[in-house]
Amino acid sequence: MTVSTTNGRVLIVGATGFIGQFVAEASLDAGRPTYVLVRPSSGNHSKTKVAKALQDRGAILLNGLANDKELMVKLLKEHHIEVVVSAVGGEKILDQLSLVEAIASAGTVKRFLPSEFGHDVDRAEPVEPGLQMYKEKREVRRLVEKLGIPYTYICCNSIASWPYYDNRHPSEVIPPLDKFQIYGDGSVKAYFVAGTDIGKFTMKTVDDVRTVNKSVHFRPPCNFYNMNELAALWERKIRRTLPRATITENDLLSVAAENRLPQSIVASFTHDIFIKGCQVNFAIHGPDETEVSSLYPNEPFRTLDECFNDFLLKVEDENTKQSDEIPTPKPVVEALAITATCA
Ligand code: NDP
Repeated sequence: MTVSTTNGRVLIVGATGFIGQFVAEASLDAGRPTYVLVRPSSGNHSKTKVAKALQDRGAILLNGLANDKELMVKLLKEHHIEVVVSAVGGEKILDQLSLVEAIASAGTVKRFLPSEFGHDVDRAEPVEPGLQMYKEKREVRRLVEKLGIPYTYICCNSIASWPYYDNRHPSEVIPPLDKFQIYGDGSVKAYFVAGTDIGKFTMKTVDDVRTVNKSVHFRPPCNFYNMNELAALWERKIRRTLPRATITENDLLSVAAENRLPQSIVASFTHDIFIKGCQVNFAIHGPDETEVSSLYPNEPFRTLDECFNDFLLKVEDENTKQSDEIPTPKPVVEALAITATCA
């Protein structure tokens, strides 16, 4: 069965960001002609480095802002862009309204993937301030649909890592080494997906005829864990047990109500996932939705077990650095205990 239409030119918006970088790398890995929209220099060294690394791998950098409609029409037409994937950050969701209008005017784009990369925003109803972001994502969806632009909404669920409730990009932070904070009774399950797989499967959908005008949900069975299981997995890795503290529903709601950004947004999503069960409280059976593992059954996901091995390596690297400074070398497990006590 032919599921792919073309290998057309892809423009990634937000490629210097957390999610966008995975998508841009996957686009290059797939050998697609990859264009990257780069914001005029903010003097941020790490962002410039990311853009340069993508360029070195073959990406073509275009300068501009997604919310500059006139410029976007020009760039889309000039470079015959057929696919646009946006991964602008949560605070810039409405910048996409001009981009959507530009896509409609340019007439070259066969598929648009707006910045989603989380839950089904039409279904989930987190408390504020997370809800505001969902309202904005809904607004972008409605404009895309009104203007008749072919789309795919990526609902990839959680990033594969320890889901700290006050951390914005948890995949950069190793799981706890001193104590676990467990949400509620720790029994509500969620799906965890490696960043590289978010990129890889997103790029698979962009010209797949089966994903036109659909939400694509990521539910890899191998990565379906609750907090208690996640804690046990990490304990097996570090070969010791850690104490557990309960973070209650009210604790999460209190942090959300403080309205400190981005912590309160993350707390509201944590509440939605691990108390209300927003990732699991519905079945995927509507005509406008599909599940990624059923689309690509032979394509493996990185397991959470493998992702936690990466975190363990980071811990071991850290311990090696410390033992280089301290003359007496210590076994990993013992050194971990020292780190935890001192932290
Ligand atoms: P980041 O803040 O890390 O990156 C945002 C990117 O968008 C940057 O490259 C930024 O450029 C670029 N950008 C912002 N505004 C514009 C504009 N007007 N024109 C052009 N480029 C622009 O975003 P995240 O990766 O955190 O978020 C992306 C999406 O992923 C969001 O929808 C978010 O909700 C979701 N998400 C999901 C997670 C999950 O666990 N499922 C985790 C994190 C995010 P510059 O580099 O110049 O700042």
